[in-house]
Amino acid sequence: MPPATDQPRGDEFEDLRREVERCTLCALHETRTRAVFGEGDPHADLMFVGEAPGYHEDQQGRPFVGSAGKLLEELLASIGMQRSQVFIANVLKSRPPDNRDPRPDEIAACEPYLWRQIALIQPRVVCTLGNFATKLLSGEPTGITRVRGRAQLREFGGRAVYLYPIFHPAAALYTPAMLATLREDIVKLPELLASPLPESTLPEPAGEGAGTPVERAVDSGALSAAGGGVDPGPTEQLGLF
Ligand code: SF4
Repeated sequence: MPPATDQPRGDEFEDLRREVERCTLCALHETRTRAVFGEGDPHADLMFVGEAPGYHEDQQGRPFVGSAGKLLEELLASIGMQRSQVFIANVLKSRPPDNRDPRPDEIAACEPYLWRQIALIQPRVVCTLGNFATKLLSGEPTGITRVRGRAQLREFGGRAVYLYPIFHPAAALYTPAMLATLREDIVKLPELLASPLPESTLPEPAGEGAGTPVERAVDSGALSAAGGGVDPGPTEQLGLF
């Protein structure tokens, strides 16, 4: 549901889009064709975050337009959704040459745009696609193979959000077992989207039971059913794809 402050938020969103499209904060602006801000419903409950634009995305200025995009659309259709109902973005807004991995300095330069997108869109679920988005948004080094398919309760911009890591569709395209796992993980999204989230703006109680609203909700077990189990945060490291 759009908030009461729909229009100001819309203006801010368009300002952010223009800022990204003319951004020169890292060297990738020199080799990109077009920056890729992201697209979809700016009030979406569900937001996908991938790694970076590829060749076709760079050419068209749109995210997930190649074969990985087709797969993502097919996966969404399997749960009765269309891409116009979600917002799709990437960690990097400009394409790394030859589709190489994003570099730490590029991620550091670009990530504020993603955080601002999340703050404006206010999604209930942020679904990270692959390692780079998952590690950035979870703040943990744990690899996607270890954390995929389990929702993590996080607080972004003062709001509780489910972080839901899954494999990147581009990787799953070439690995049948990974694709099967991706399909299994996607079907959990409707339940997760319908799961309650704590109000992060509640005042913190003093004494016993204190902590952030997210911590209190996890402690109380109030969110234990979401997405086949809610993980308050991974701690193990396993740098796998
Ligand atoms: S990748 Fe991000 S920080 Fe670098 S030029 Fe593009 S928009 Fe700017």
